[in-house]
Amino acid sequence: MMRDGHGRAIDYLRISLTDRCNFRCVYCMPEKGVNQIGHEEVLRMEEIERLVRVAASAGVRSVRLTGGEPLVRKGVVDLVDAITDIPGIINVSMTTNGVLLPAMADRLKAAGLHRVNISLDTLDPEQFTAITRGGKLEDVLKGIDTALEVGFNPVKINAVVVRSLEQDYLEYAQLSVDRPLHVRFIEYMPMGDTLGTGWGKQDVVPNEELFDIINGRAAEAGLPGLEDAAEGKPLGWGPARYFAFPNAQGTVGFISPLSRHFCSECNRLRVTADGKIRPCLFSDTEYDVRDALRTGTDADVLAVLQEALGAKPDEHHDRVGTERGMSQIGG
Ligand code: SAM
Ligand code: SF4
Repeated sequence: MMRDGHGRAIDYLRISLTDRCNFRCVYCMPEKGVNQIGHEEVLRMEEIERLVRVAASAGVRSVRLTGGEPLVRKGVVDLVDAITDIPGIINVSMTTNGVLLPAMADRLKAAGLHRVNISLDTLDPEQFTAITRGGKLEDVLKGIDTALEVGFNPVKINAVVVRSLEQDYLEYAQLSVDRPLHVRFIEYMPMGDTLGTGWGKQDVVPNEELFDIINGRAAEAGLPGLEDAAEGKPLGWGPARYFAFPNAQGTVGFISPLSRHFCSECNRLRVTADGKIRPCLFSDTEYDVRDALRTGTDADVLAVLQEALGAKPDEHHDRVGTERGMSQIGG
C-alpha cells in the first residue's frame, strides 16, 4: 500500500493517453494554436503498461484512462487488454467524450474495460456544438446508448456546470430516471485565463446552490425532487455526493472540487501524456517518469512514483490556475 506524506492511501492512477482530441471544448482547449506534445515525447503504450505494472506492485488498484480524448489514441483497446491483466489491478475505467463509443465500445468491453464516464454538458444541440466547437449532440447520445447496450456498469454522465451557460439542469438530471445512468454535475474549474473564455470563479455554481435550483424547478413543474441516495451510490463513486429521484434507475451526483474540498479523501496520482507525474491537479509541480521508463530499471520508475507521492500537498489551498489545460493534464 502506498501512502503519501499526509497518511492518505494512494491506490488510483489517472493516465492521460494523449493531449489530442476530436473536440475543442471551450473550457479545455484553445480554438487554434494548440500546443501539441511531440510524438516522441508521448509515452508509448508499452511504457504505460510498464508504469502500471510497477505501480500495481506498489499498491495501485485502479486505473483511469483519459486525455485529451483517449479513444483517438491508436492501440487503446490493446492497452486496456494488457493492463486489465496486470496482477493487482482490479478496476480499469475511462473518461471519454463518447463520440467513438459506437465504433469501439464492444471491443473495449471485450478487452476488459470495466466502466466509462461520458462527458456531456448540455442536451441542447446548438449549445452542445458551441461548447465543443463543432461536435454533434446526437453522436454523444449514440455513444451513451452503446455504452449501456454493451453492458458497461455503471455508466456515468458528467456535466461541467458553468453559470454563464445557463444549462438546463433539471432536464439533464432527469436522464437518470428511465435508464441506469448516473448523472454527475462537476463544478467548473477556472484553469487560468489562457483560454479566453472570460469565465472565472464567478462562474462556479456551488453544488449546494445547484441542488436547490434542481429541486426548486422540479417543484415548479410538479415533479418529485432529489432524495439522498448514499445507499444506492454506484461503484467507484469517488468524491461525489449522491441523490436520486424517487424510483429512478440511476442517481444524480455532485462533485465539488472547489466549494467543498475533498482533498482529505484524495487517493490519486495523475500521469500526463508526456510522462510527468502530477501529485495534484491544481499544482504545476510534476515529476518526470518518462526518462526512468526509457533508460532505467523498475526500481527507478518506482522511485519517481514515490517521490511524487511524497510531494502530494495536503490540499489545493484554493489555487486553481495551472499552466497546462485539462487536455494536457488529463482531467
Ligand atoms: N476527452 C475526454 C472527455 O471529455 O471526457 C477526457 C478528457 S477531459 C479533459 C476530462 C474531463 O475534464 C471532462 O469531463 C471535461 O468536461 C473536464 N474538464 C475539462 N476542462 C475543465 C474545466 N476547466 N473545469 C472542469 N472540468 C473540466
Ligand atoms: Fe476534448 Fe475532453 Fe477537452 Fe472536450 S473536455 S476538448 S472532449 S479533452
